[in-house]
Amino acid sequence: MMMVGGPQDEISLGSTPPRLSKSKYLSGLQCQKRLYLEIHHPALATPPDASTRAILDMGTEVGEWARRRFDGGRLVQAGYRQTEAALTQTAALMTDHTVPAIFEAAIQADGVLIRVDVLERLSNGQPDQSTWRLVEVKSSTKVKDVHLDDLSLQRHVLLQAGIQVAACALMRINTGYVYAGGIVDLEQLFAIDDVSSLVEERQSKVNEKLAIMKSMLAGPTIPVVEPDDHCLVPYECPFWKHCTKDKPARWIFHLPGSKKLATDLVAQGIETIDEIPPQTRLTIVQRKVKDNLEWVSKDLSAQLRTVAFPVHHLDFETFNPAIPRYPRTRPYQSIPIQWSNHIEQVDGALVHHEFLHVEMNDPRRPLAEGLLKSLGEEGSICVYSPYEKSVIEQLAEALPELRVELRRLIKRIWDLHPIVKDHYYHPEFGGSFSLKEVLPAVVPSLRYDDLAIRAGGQAAAEYYRMVFVEMDWVERATIRESLLRYCERDTLAMVELRRALKEKSGHL
Ligand code: SF4
Repeated sequence: MMMVGGPQDEISLGSTPPRLSKSKYLSGLQCQKRLYLEIHHPALATPPDASTRAILDMGTEVGEWARRRFDGGRLVQAGYRQTEAALTQTAALMTDHTVPAIFEAAIQADGVLIRVDVLERLSNGQPDQSTWRLVEVKSSTKVKDVHLDDLSLQRHVLLQAGIQVAACALMRINTGYVYAGGIVDLEQLFAIDDVSSLVEERQSKVNEKLAIMKSMLAGPTIPVVEPDDHCLVPYECPFWKHCTKDKPARWIFHLPGSKKLATDLVAQGIETIDEIPPQTRLTIVQRKVKDNLEWVSKDLSAQLRTVAFPVHHLDFETFNPAIPRYPRTRPYQSIPIQWSNHIEQVDGALVHHEFLHVEMNDPRRPLAEGLLKSLGEEGSICVYSPYEKSVIEQLAEALPELRVELRRLIKRIWDLHPIVKDHYYHPEFGGSFSLKEVLPAVVPSLRYDDLAIRAGGQAAAEYYRMVFVEMDWVERATIRESLLRYCERDTLAMVELRRALKEKSGHL
């Protein structure tokens, strides 16, 4: 992170120092400007998109499941905006020795207010000297540095508040668990890692870091920080759009691939892709972005002709619930729930088939049976990533009775993605060969912005809502329709992309 001294926008400050929280502290570790903007100018942040909201919702659901692992635990009912009530309720629960664990415990000390996911009572002392285990719940599958920073701050606040912390743990999803059906085995679903010593190692730095953040927040100016690769780690900063709004269209950080190269080039005083010195080692894709020209390989036409008619254009949508829903599945296992198939005959005639599972039971068998019928025995199966192949392989693994037929499909798969990547480039790709970038550049008439669902993550979240949450049949019908139109667009996009590329290759 490059931090530059000197004033930027002057701001006026109130007399009360702003209170920090777990998330604010982590923001401050990532970037001082981020913390400053979150406290003083939150409206400048880009709101989370539908896919990000879905991830946050999944985290909430995992948190609720995690509480079931602590028999007799009690939830602090006061919400995040009811600080005084939350502090009072927590204090009452802590002095009640019959309460073995407190969920969402509110503790405030040293100018920081935290809500602890689980504060588990390990022993009762006299009169109020219980010892506690601090448990942070994450929907993650492994321990990350950011979790340890989070726990070190919480431990700091608890110690400052005079609470005896005997251990620190991270409770996370165990992807090795295979759900057998019936009641979910919470002992297996969650792994609890004791990270006490790792948290203690970081403890000594918390004081110092908090002091720096508080003094920065008390200052009259926004810290001047240049956006670079630090803005994406550990989380993409919501102020990215704000901080980069005045950057040139061909700004060096728009170069795809490793952000380290862009950081090195910035250190040499290079601001745009066009200024990259000719001797710089670039990948093939980076070179195409630098050249910024439409390019058609002489082999494109021959590559496109390797397809066999009738051409099936196939796309799956999947969802991957943290809490497994179907027997013999694991947490986060991708479960196909939908497919679309546009079939193009040699004369150009187009037929569309589609499938969407709307029941609460396992979709895989009916989905696979319908798929086999739709794909028949003939023609290429055009896809736009290796993902469809892996879904079919997983279906074959899960459904022994259909295994032979499903595996036969794999031999017919014809992937358009590497053909585009190796034989065509358009400046509007910006170095990305994802269908969402390629389509508007090659087939401008066909876009995604008229659809209610526009991304895979959003589709997965909406599917979950339609099947497991939503009770209103009108709302369910609306989601169903949106899902069908989204998947249909993906396969129609492949049809039109193949046609447009054929046209371009014909002009050589
Ligand atoms: S975009 Fe980067 S520089 Fe701007 S606030 Fe976020 S992390 Fe800091």
